[in-house]
Amino acid sequence: MRDFALELEQRKQAGLYRTRRQISGPQQPVLTSDGKPLLSFCSNDYLGLANHPANIDALRDALPETGLGGAASHLICGHHDAHHRLEQRLAEFTGRSSALFFSTGYMANMGVISALAGRGDTIFSDRLNHASIIDGCILSRAKIRRYAHGDVAALETMLAQTSGHKLVVTDGVFSMDGDVAPLKELARVCRAHDALLVVDDAHGIGVLGPQGRGSIAAQGLSEEDVPVLIGTLGKAVGTSGAFVAGSSVLMDYLVQKARTYIYTTAMPPAIAAATCASIDLIEHDDDRRRHLEKLIAAFRQQATAMGYQLMPSETPIQPIMVGDNWTALELSKALEQQGLLVTAIRPPTVPEGEARLRVTFSAAHSEADLNRLLRALSSCRHLLSSPGVAV
Ligand code: PMP
Repeated sequence: MRDFALELEQRKQAGLYRTRRQISGPQQPVLTSDGKPLLSFCSNDYLGLANHPANIDALRDALPETGLGGAASHLICGHHDAHHRLEQRLAEFTGRSSALFFSTGYMANMGVISALAGRGDTIFSDRLNHASIIDGCILSRAKIRRYAHGDVAALETMLAQTSGHKLVVTDGVFSMDGDVAPLKELARVCRAHDALLVVDDAHGIGVLGPQGRGSIAAQGLSEEDVPVLIGTLGKAVGTSGAFVAGSSVLMDYLVQKARTYIYTTAMPPAIAAATCASIDLIEHDDDRRRHLEKLIAAFRQQATAMGYQLMPSETPIQPIMVGDNWTALELSKALEQQGLLVTAIRPPTVPEGEARLRVTFSAAHSEADLNRLLRALSSCRHLLSSPGVAV
C-alpha cells in the first residue's frame, strides 16, 4: 500500500502542503476568517456581483416558481424553463447561435473537449492552460501536443506536421498569469490548418470587451473565428456554473456526447434565474469595469515602483512573482498579519520556481482598499531580496 502519511509529510517539507481556510459571511472584499476580518485580494468575483442585491432578489423570487433541487439530469426531466432562458440569454450575450449550461467550468472543459476530440485526433494545448483543460484532453484519449505559452509560430509548425482531426484549446485569460491569449493569430492558424479552436474565457467573460462580452469580442472576433467558447459563471458573473456557446449543430452534438452534461443532475434552476439577472447588470454597468481598470493601472504603477515583479497582465489577475515556495508563504503570512488575504500559489499550480502571490482585483474594492494593500506591500518589500528572487 502507498504510504500516504509519508507523502503528506514530504509535501510539508517542500513547502507544498495545501490547506483550506474556513471563512464565514458573504464574499465581499472583507471576509471573516477565525473571527477576524480580512480584506481579500484573491477572489474571482471581479465585478463584485457575487452579493449584488439584484442577483440575490432574482434567486429569491425564482425559488417559489422553480423549487430548489435540479432533481434529475437535463436529458431525463431536469431541463427547466429557467435553464432554457439562461441558455438563450448566454447565446445572445456572446453573439452565438446557441449555448449549453454546465454545472461547473471544470465539467464544461472535461465534457466539451472529450466530446469534440477522441482517439486518433490531435489536441494542441497551450502549456499554461488550466487544469480542467488538461484533464479534458487526457479524458478524450486524443494525442496531446503542448505548445509553448502563447507561441503561435510553434503551434503553426506542429499543426503543419499533423494530419487528421485537430483541435486547438487555450485559456482566453490565463488564470495564474493574467495575460490574454493571442486569439486573432490563433484563429488565423486554425483556419489555415483546418483546426477547431476552443477558447476557455473563464476570466475574460464580464471583464473584457464591449459590455463585458469577453476576450474574443475584445479582440474583434466572432463565432466564425472561435467556433467554441467556454465561459464560467462563478467568477465575474458572481453565481455558479459554466456554459459553452457556438453553433446549434455543435450544441446538439454536445447534448448527445458531453458526458459531464448528460450524466449529472441539472443545476438548481433558480441559479440560472439569478445568472440571467447578473448578465443584465454586466451588460449595462460599464462603471464597474472602468473602476476595475483604474485600480489595476494604479496597482501596477505603484507595485512596480516598489520593485515588485509583476506579469504582463492588464486584467484583474495581477500576480506578484516570488520564486521560492517558502518566501511566497512568508509574504502571504506577513500580509495576513496586516489584515489582508492574498493566497500564495505554488507548484504544481504554477511551474517549479515560479511561486507567486496571485493578487486579484474586484470592482468591489475601493481606492482605500487598494491603498491599504500598497502600504502593506511596501512594509513587506524586505522579504524579497530583489524583484522576483527569494532571499
Ligand atoms: N477554466 C479556468 C481557466 C479556470 O480558471 C477555472 C477555475 N479556476 C475553471 C475553468 C473551472 O471553473 P469552475 O470553477 O466553474 O469549475
